[in-house]
Parts: sequence; C-alpha cells; structure tokens
Amino acid sequence: MGRAFLYVILGGGVAAGYAALEFTKRGISHGELCIISEEPVPPYERPALSKGFLLPEAPARLPSFHTCVGANEERLTPKWYKEHGIELVLGSRVKSVDVRRKTLLTGSGETISYKVLIIATGARALKLEEFGVKGSDSENVCYLRDLADANRLVNLMESCPGGNAIVIGGGYIGMECAASLVINRMSVTMVFPEEHCMARLFTPKIASFYEEFYKSKGVKFVKGTILSSFDIDSNGKVTAVNLRDGSSLPADTVVVGIGIRPNTSLFEGQLTLEKGGIKVNGKMQSSNSSVYAVGDVATFPVKVFGESRRLEHVDSARKSARHAVGAIMEQNQVGEFDYLPFFYSRVFTLSWQFYGDNAGDVVHFGDFSGGTFGAYWVRNSHLVGSFLEGGTKEEYEAIAKATRLKPAVEDVAELERQGLGFAVTV
Ligand code: FAD
Ligand code: NAD
Repeated sequence: MGRAFLYVILGGGVAAGYAALEFTKRGISHGELCIISEEPVPPYERPALSKGFLLPEAPARLPSFHTCVGANEERLTPKWYKEHGIELVLGSRVKSVDVRRKTLLTGSGETISYKVLIIATGARALKLEEFGVKGSDSENVCYLRDLADANRLVNLMESCPGGNAIVIGGGYIGMECAASLVINRMSVTMVFPEEHCMARLFTPKIASFYEEFYKSKGVKFVKGTILSSFDIDSNGKVTAVNLRDGSSLPADTVVVGIGIRPNTSLFEGQLTLEKGGIKVNGKMQSSNSSVYAVGDVATFPVKVFGESRRLEHVDSARKSARHAVGAIMEQNQVGEFDYLPFFYSRVFTLSWQFYGDNAGDVVHFGDFSGGTFGAYWVRNSHLVGSFLEGGTKEEYEAIAKATRLKPAVEDVAELERQGLGFAVTV
C-alpha cells in the first residue's frame, strides 16, 4: 500500500512550481497535493541556468530563483511547501505510470495514487550519440538542462580559465551559453549546421545583427557543418573537436545544445500523442480525463493559429500550468486556453521579445546598427508575428497587443515604412 493524493504533479520544474502556487491561490487542503521530481530541489526558474547562474560575479544561486520569482510572484522555498501542506517527493524518478489504475511507481519502489494527475515532465536534452557521435560522457563535455548540468558547466569554466570553449548548436542554449562563456573570458567558437544562428526563429538579417555583435565580443562562428568526432585523451578528456568539413578545433570545454525531446515515454501507448507531445484540449486535459499535461511536454490548441503546437518556452509553461489548475478546480468556469506564444532572450546588453508566429512574409524595421529594431511576419494579409530588440516595456506591450489582434495588412511597404509605429497605433 502506498500513499494516495487528490492531486499529483509528475515533474518538478517550472510548470510544477506555477501549478502549485495556483492550487494554493484557489484553495487546497493540507495533504491533497504531491509533487514528484527527479531533481533534488523544489521547482526553480530554469531560464536562470544559462544566464545569471553562469555569471562570474555574484552569480544567481538557489534559493534566490525558485519559482515563481520569474513572474514577480511569491518565491516557493521548501518552507513554503511545508507550510502549505504540499508533499514534495524529491530526487525520485517515476519509473512507470498506470493511467487506468491511477497509480505511479517511483524509483524507490513506492506506489503513489492520484485522482487527478498533471504531467509536467518537460524535456531532455538531445545527445550527440543520437546523431552518431560518441563522447557525451567525457569529463569536459556538458549539456545544459538542469541544476546539475549548470554546476558542471561552472566547474568546467573554472577548471580552464581563458581556455577554448566549443559550443555545438546555434539555438537558444548555444547563443546564451556562448555569451556566458565569453563573459567568463573563455575563447569561444560556435559550430552549427545552418547558415545562420537561431534558424528556427531569426531571419538572416536579424541573425546577422547578433552574429556581428557576438563577433565584436570575440566569438568565432563555424557555420554549415557539424561535429563528426572528438579527440579524447587517455584521461577521458576531449582535446579537439573534429568537424565534418575536415577541420579540427582545439577544445578545453565543449557545451552542447542541439535541441530537446519531450519526456513522454511513460505515457506512450496510454495517452494520445501529437507532434511529439501529449495531446491535450483547451483545458490542458489529455485523452484520459483524469490526466492533464502542461509545459514543454504538452501539445495544445493554440487558438490564434487555429492549430495545435508544442512550445518549449517558460511563459507557456507558467500559463499552461495555471490554466490546467483552473480547469481542474473550476471545470465549468474556466474556458479554453487562449495563449499568444511569447519567446524572449537576454544576452550581453541585448534583449529581445517575440510574439505570435514566424510564418509568412517578413518586414524588417528600425535601426539594425545597434538601436531598436524588429520584424513583422504577415500571412494571408494579417499580422501574425512580431519581433523587437531593444524595446521599452511599452513597446513590447504594443507589439504583443498588435500581434494578438492580428490586424489586416493591405500594404506591406506601408507596414515597413511605419515600423514600430504600426504596433503602437493599432
Ligand atoms: P521543466 O522545467 O524541464 O521540468 C520538468 C521536470 O520534470 C524536471 O524537474 C525533471 O527532472 C522532471 N521529470 C522528468 N521526468 C521525470 C520522471 N520520470 N520522474 C520524476 N521527475 C521527472 N524559456 C524561455 O522562454 N526563456 C528563457 O530564457 C529560457 N531559458 C532557458 C534556459 C535553459 C538552460 C533551459 C534548459 C531552458 C530555458 N527555457 C527558456 C525553456 C524553459 O525553461 C522551459 O520551457 C520550461 O522549463 C518548461 O517547463 P516544464 O515544467 O514543462 O519542464
Ligand atoms: P534549439 O532547438 O533552440 O536549437 C538546436 C540547435 O541545434 C539548432 O539551432 C542547430 O543549430 C543545432 N543542431 C541540430 N542538429 C545538430 C547537429 N547534428 N550537430 C550540431 N548542431 C546541431 O535547442 P537548444 O538550443 O538545445 O535549446 C534547448 C531547449 O531549451 C529548447 O527547448 C529551447 O527553447 C530552450 N531554451 C530556451 C531559451 C529561451 O527561450 N531564451 C533559452 C535556453 C534554452
């Protein structure tokens, strides 16, 4: 016989923290909620790991960035969970789930049962081995998904001051880690297969601005090729990175950010999956009515696009978690999740925000020489996406509002001429 809870959250990341806060706001009794997490600490703001956590001066450390400080809400420390009667089962990997019986089996052999389950298992970093390259377990190769990875990266940076850091991947992790490594005075080279960085979101023109900025900080770029192998010494340390184009780069530290896969495996064959995630409806409810999914692992209907998507960003994790809890506790009063996708990043002195969808024709505007600049995406004669670098709070609010309204755009040349002014006056 194991323990039984009314609500169980499987996973202890961003979405779990925001869901816990929402449960307490809506009113739960002591002993009703349990969070089970593989990580040894309560939920924290994962974005800090590639930013404040890696700073050489006054780095961010727990407990300062427990959820929900990222949304200017209460900081949920271990004491907070205790005071609210929320059971934290930490450092415990769930090995199997039986959604028919409504039970979970933890790594320590405990069976925990639930009335309602929220899946918040997030995602795992893709490994080089999945692309046919060996060496991920070398002592100076690092991924970045959780606190243990971030601590490892800090130790690696400290072990070879001024050394050569090779960053594999030109996405979010690659860009944010490259900036942090440079700030730590490492000599950084980024390697990625595309023609420009952040290929999933940036246009060539936007990417060119960031690449030039990075170069001015000393970052080197090797584009259009991928890693083929590592040279590894007798101590198990990578000494060089060999690329498919035949070149070789000396390496003291290697940071890998080549994408993620949502953690769905416990539910394959039990719940409906879609686009790599757990398919949920507008109440974040899966194909089993007692099971909800939120955050990186959920594929949900994005009303503004009229189709389902799986998003991998913190704002969507926070808001989908809150929505699920609202739907669980007040079924009839909570409508469909109506979410406008929002992504952002901060590196060096730069900061950008993006809202909506990067589909259709692109119009650039503003000062690409280091001032405020941006882009709009127009599809079927309507604004569907907006990007802005270096904006003020009001300007970001204006592009968010304009994108949600999806105004008609008759004349793309006129939109280009108006630039940011278009969003401000919508
Ligand atoms: P996670 O936060 O990943 O949490 C999942 C949790 O589930 C983890 O605690 C994991 O250990 C646990 N778990 C998984 N499987 C099991 C199991 N079987 N048993 C027990 N526990 C399990 N997004 C942005 O929008 N802006 C940013 O600046 C930004 N920066 C980021 C920086 C880094 C380094 C990373 C890795 C991500 C960043 N993201 C950012 C993305 C954002 O952090 C994620 O979208 C968000 O964390 C997703 O929340 P989640 O709760 O779904 O998953
Ligand atoms: P990503 O999807 O952003 O980028 C993956 C990159 O891997 C691609 O851009 C490509 O350059 C590279 N790549 C793909 N296959 C490769 C190969 N075989 N060899 C070399 N490079 C290859 O994923 P990520 O950067 O790993 O980020 C992981 C997750 O963390 C994502 O979900 C991301 O959204 C999240 N994250 C978000 C932020 C943010 O929103 N600011 C910051 C950090 C991390």
